[in-house]
Amino acid sequence: MNWQDINLQDHFEPGIAAPENYQSAFYIVISDDEVLSHDNLPTWQPLDQDEWRWSGLQANAQHYLGMIQDAPLFTVEIDKNADEPEGYFFDTLWSFLGKADMNVFYLLGRAKQIVDWYNHHQHCGQCGRATESGQNDRSTKCSHCGLMFYPRLSPSIIVCINKGNDILLAQNAQARAKFYSTLAGFVEPGESIEETVHREVFEEVGLKVKNLRYFGSQSWPFPNSLMLGFHAEYDSGEIDIQEEELSDAQWFHYNNLPNKPASISISGWLINDFIRRAELGQI
Ligand SMILES: [Zn+2]
Repeated sequence: MNWQDINLQDHFEPGIAAPENYQSAFYIVISDDEVLSHDNLPTWQPLDQDEWRWSGLQANAQHYLGMIQDAPLFTVEIDKNADEPEGYFFDTLWSFLGKADMNVFYLLGRAKQIVDWYNHHQHCGQCGRATESGQNDRSTKCSHCGLMFYPRLSPSIIVCINKGNDILLAQNAQARAKFYSTLAGFVEPGESIEETVHREVFEEVGLKVKNLRYFGSQSWPFPNSLMLGFHAEYDSGEIDIQEEELSDAQWFHYNNLPNKPASISISGWLINDFIRRAELGQI
């Protein structure tokens, strides 16, 4: 099977239990947050069965991710000090953003999050004993007290607020690169995601919003966010920024934005969607 002919959206079927017999397989090799990549290939692809076997690398752990047509796909974690085999190099997950097909980025994000989750749950958080892997689902279970641990996801909202043809963009106080983006924040226990939008917007910029409209979501594996995107309309209040979180927040006309939003992130998708509708006079 030629990897270049594979359309991940159609051909990848996620799963928990690997088949017992198979003719070929794919391996995503992860070491200390980095992904093993072939030298001199125009686009990233996993190792096939022979490449993995001949790489000489030792797996600390192997996790089945699902089937790609009739071949199982595994992610293997190798020692963080392992040297790359000849003909390969290690690349960060960040470096795949904007360079790789987004479905490849999401697949690698899935692999890395599963590797991280497994590493972080080798011992029980309640009694400290060793855990063992679940048979029927993706979990680890304490061998002593029975507490179970599942891969961790952190749902977050991200919201594009408009006042007529203006949208609210803010600079994060902590970010290394100073650019303007839509507001975002983590969902708290007990909240609906709509309540999170209202709370985060009020906390960060002191505004009330209305007419929330769910837009879509994006997996964001840094380290384990699920971004839930909304449009919202300004309702009332004056901008009053939370200085620990933001260094600035302003209204910008959609055709005079401070920076072109990156189309790889849901923030960019939200802004582009607003611009498209504003240009059609649909706001
Ligand atoms: Zn325990």
